[in-house]
Amino acid sequence: MNSRTPENPNFDIFDRDHLWHPYTSTIGPLPTYKVRSASGCRITLQDGTELIEGMSSWWCAVHGYNHPVLNQAIRNQLESMAHVMFGGLTHQPAIDLGKLLLRIAPPSMNHIFYADSGSVAVEVAMKMAVQFQVASGHPMRTNFVTIRTGYHGDTWNAMSVCDPVTGMHSLFGPSLPVRYFAPSPHSRFDGGWDPHDTDELRAIIEQHEGELAALILEPIVQGAGGMRFYHPQYLREAAALCRRHGLLLIFDEIATGFGRTGKLFAWEHASVEPDIMCIGKALTGGYMTFSAVLANSRVAETISSHDPKVFMHGPTFMGNPLACSVAIASTRLLLESGWQEKVRSIETQLREELAPATALPQVADVRVLGAIGVLEMKRPVDMAWMQKRFVEEGIWLRPFGRLVYAMPPFIIKPEELSFLTSAMLKIVGEIPE
Ligand SMILES: *Cc1c(COP(=O)(O)O)cnc(C)c1O
Repeated sequence: MNSRTPENPNFDIFDRDHLWHPYTSTIGPLPTYKVRSASGCRITLQDGTELIEGMSSWWCAVHGYNHPVLNQAIRNQLESMAHVMFGGLTHQPAIDLGKLLLRIAPPSMNHIFYADSGSVAVEVAMKMAVQFQVASGHPMRTNFVTIRTGYHGDTWNAMSVCDPVTGMHSLFGPSLPVRYFAPSPHSRFDGGWDPHDTDELRAIIEQHEGELAALILEPIVQGAGGMRFYHPQYLREAAALCRRHGLLLIFDEIATGFGRTGKLFAWEHASVEPDIMCIGKALTGGYMTFSAVLANSRVAETISSHDPKVFMHGPTFMGNPLACSVAIASTRLLLESGWQEKVRSIETQLREELAPATALPQVADVRVLGAIGVLEMKRPVDMAWMQKRFVEEGIWLRPFGRLVYAMPPFIIKPEELSFLTSAMLKIVGEIPE
């Protein structure tokens, strides 16, 4: 389909020769497909081929593409200002977004730090935790504990808490700060709770309490590190351990936020509030890079009442008005769109339509939560082959490792979703056993 001939309008030779794509080689990269436009749940390639979008552009585009309300929000904001520095200045979009976020965040969240991307939000959250500990009289508590198969982004500290193997950063091993890793929870979201599931986490926290600033994890759904869904009791136990041993609890809700798991935020599955929470990805409905770090008053006030009495971070594009405006529009649209009903019906449909994959010899596990459907293969997939086959079948998915998964925009129509799932089953069934 996307053969490397100059006549193929979906293939661009400059792109291949000069542009890096995520996790790609400059020598013999896998083909990229040139997109002409995207609207609703469809991506249109340069040659006019339409693909049903199953990835929401990596969790972001919950309302689909080219949404008139989101487009208009950006146009309106552009008429007054595209950007202004946040140091010493403020503006209505930042204020309105803040009010909106505090209304939907865990009740104890009270302070907001706007950042540029998910990874930066994780850096900010980790700095907050360290500054909190220093301010609390624990200058030695600078390290972190996390769980395996997590993913928290590609910047330095974010990388350090990604799974050392599946988190894609093992290469940097010796140059990264060394964190403590507990095994990933094995009690499934849809299964029973094993009271021993937190044993190793407890052992690490008890043994290293004096050097640990915080526990950071993705609540309920681990995304790019393994697409695993774990039991809410794990979060309750983990939170109790943190409280008992003076660690802050950081929830990375960058992938799980804004309805994806069937709750507005995944902490709600366990009713456990973190001290610090990162959000991003679907925050702007996939329009712009933007994130926020939310903190409770204890964190904010402790940091602010000890030298240097300020939180030491301040990105150039902090609180960008265009991003704030589209985030307000996207969040309001979500809240007014009956998202719960939509996610529930996507969940039901994914469950029904992916269930037959359990019988396929290539498939090790099938799992669905909210608007996320995962087929875990027995062996790693041949990405080049599979990408090509998906495009030939008219769908857009981006498998990795042993995982073939879909997290479609919430606006996907039932017939589009059926098209997507039947293509998934068909192509997975073509994998040689
Ligand atoms: C994507 C992701 C990040 C990183 O966000 P970027 O915007 O890509 O920097 C961090 N944490 C989680 C859970 C994510 O899914």
